[in-house]
Amino acid sequence: MQSSLKRANAPKTVTRFFRGILKRGDPMEIRTFVMTPYQSNCYLITHHGHAVVIDPGARDSRLEDVIMTSGLTVDAILLTHGHADHVGGVMAIKDMTGADAYMCNRDNRWLKRGSLPFLDHDVITDHDLEDGDTVHAAGLDFHVIGTPGHSEGGVSFLCGDVLFSGDTLFFQNVGRTDLPGGDSKTLYMSVKKLYGMLPDDTKVFPGHGKPTTIGHERTHNLFVRG
Ligand SMILES: [Zn+2]
Repeated sequence: MQSSLKRANAPKTVTRFFRGILKRGDPMEIRTFVMTPYQSNCYLITHHGHAVVIDPGARDSRLEDVIMTSGLTVDAILLTHGHADHVGGVMAIKDMTGADAYMCNRDNRWLKRGSLPFLDHDVITDHDLEDGDTVHAAGLDFHVIGTPGHSEGGVSFLCGDVLFSGDTLFFQNVGRTDLPGGDSKTLYMSVKKLYGMLPDDTKVFPGHGKPTTIGHERTHNLFVRG
């Protein structure tokens, strides 16, 4: 088994306890691939020859080439939410690597062909995610933080001091809430929750646009300050 999902009965919140998992000099790498007409960020996280793919929005030969030429074992495909510009490449990566896909089932409505105009096939995921879960893959722990609002099943992933925030939190912006299942009050609460649980120096890799930090957003975000 390449990856595993641990569902603790215990604390449903992620705290500072999780910081510092990555030792200094531990060669974890994050590569960003910008995909789809919506410029979605797909992240390839590599660690000791193993990898995790977050939000493959489209079939992408650059990503496939890196996986092939580096001989990476992809342990898991993690999805921050179900919108087509984040899941359109899931089946291609599954076919290529055999990795399981993880997503919160509350976003299943988006996985059907045509849910958004450019999704031309059904997407199948393998594991449901809930707030408080931990996915262990590529020798790393990805802590699942429920961050609904942009979509009903939106989650963020915390790995060490790095947060993959999907379309919840962007550089000086937040995700749209006008698609079905979106809710601006819920999104606001989700961003506040991230501010409340994460220290300022947490790096944020969003679903669109450039990276930021929790501290920068706390003071400069145009929509939610902390
Ligand atoms: Zn989205």
